[in-house]
Amino acid sequence: MNIIILGPPGAGKGTQALMIKDSFNFVQFSTGDILREAVDAKTSIGLKVKDIIAKGDLVADELILEIISQKIADNKSEKGIIFDGFPRTILQADELLKVLSDYKMKLDLVIELAVDDNILLGRIETRAAENSENVRDDDNKSALKKRLSVYHKQTRPLIDYYKKHSDFVSVDGMMEINEVSENIISILNKRLN
Ligand code: ADP
Repeated sequence: MNIIILGPPGAGKGTQALMIKDSFNFVQFSTGDILREAVDAKTSIGLKVKDIIAKGDLVADELILEIISQKIADNKSEKGIIFDGFPRTILQADELLKVLSDYKMKLDLVIELAVDDNILLGRIETRAAENSENVRDDDNKSALKKRLSVYHKQTRPLIDYYKKHSDFVSVDGMMEINEVSENIISILNKRLN
C-alpha cells in the first residue's frame, strides 16, 4: 500500500509517517530528511541544496525525482511505502505516477493533514525552542514564511489534483498527536481489510 502524507510545514507529517511505518511495517521516505542528511554529510547533493533549504525554497524537481526514483526501485517489494514531503509540485506528482506504473505499482491513498496557518508558526517556534542545540536551518521566521508561501503556491494545488487522481482523505491535524494517529490508523485499517 503506497501512501502520500501531504500538508504544510509543521503539520506533523514526519511524526505521523513514522507512526504509520512502525504500526504497519511500511518503509518511509522523507525527502526533507534525505536532503538534511546529505547537507550534514556534505555530499555534492548536500552542498548544492544547503542554501536553498535554509531559505525555505524548493529544491529542483529533477534532483528530487532522481532520489525518489532510486528509492522506489530499491523498495518495490515492500509491503508499503509512505512518502513524506514528496511530491511538492504537480510535476513531481505526475512523475511519481509514472515511476510507480513503471514498476507495476500504484498510489493507494493520499492523506492530507489539515492545519490552519496561524497554528503552524507557533508549532515551529516551539520545535526550535525545544531543540535549541539542533535547530533546523529553516526553522526561523523568515524561512518559515517562505515555506508557507511556497506550500500555498506550489504544493496545495496537489489537493485538487489528488481528489481527481487518487483515493484522498483529509484528516484534522489540529487534534492531539495521538488522536490524529488513531484516525489515520482507522483509515488505513479500513483500506487494508
Ligand atoms: P517541512 O514540510 O516541515 O517544511 P521538509 O523536511 O519536508 O519540511 O522539507 C524541508 C525542505 O527540504 C523544504 O523546504 C525544501 O527546501 C526541501 N524539500 C523537501 N522535499 C522536497 C521536495 N519534494 N521538493 C523540493 N524540495 C523539497
